[in-house]
Amino acid sequence: MSLFTKIIRKEIPSCKVGAGELWYAFLDINPRRAGHTLVVPVEEKQRLAELSAESRAALMEGVADAQRRLGKVFDTQDFTVVLHDGPLAGQEVPHVHIHVMPRTSGDGGRCAGMAAFPDAPPIGSVEPDFAALGALSEKLQAA
Ligand code: AMP
Repeated sequence: MSLFTKIIRKEIPSCKVGAGELWYAFLDINPRRAGHTLVVPVEEKQRLAELSAESRAALMEGVADAQRRLGKVFDTQDFTVVLHDGPLAGQEVPHVHIHVMPRTSGDGGRCAGMAAFPDAPPIGSVEPDFAALGALSEKLQAA
């Protein structure tokens, strides 16, 4: 049983943010900033693709619910929403969880996508390779 299932079942304590029938939201114990929340599906699966369509949809409802609450408390409409979908992407707990972090002016945070690939050339510094993008697009649509 995963750590987060134990949290959902209240076998391990957590600081609740909100809950639905198919999801649970609680505060991360190592907050990257105040309000850092995790939203998890009750269904215990490691990756987003393994969840039922119902759980996936409900999970997004949980994210929206957490955003509404965080937005009110931290007075913002802006959030970093991150999913580490598997260990190669940085997942430590093998149970889908979405990080929701409120963003406020001067909070010191970065753009999550860029932080994941710090050595990639800065946006705008390289001409887009439309031939490569087009070829990949064809491949993805055929997959
Ligand atoms: P990830 O690296 O995406 O797998 O994120 C796992 C997150 O779970 C980390 O941000 C941890 O701080 C958080 N975490 C681990 N144990 C707990 C816990 N008992 N309660 C709340 N958050 C936790």
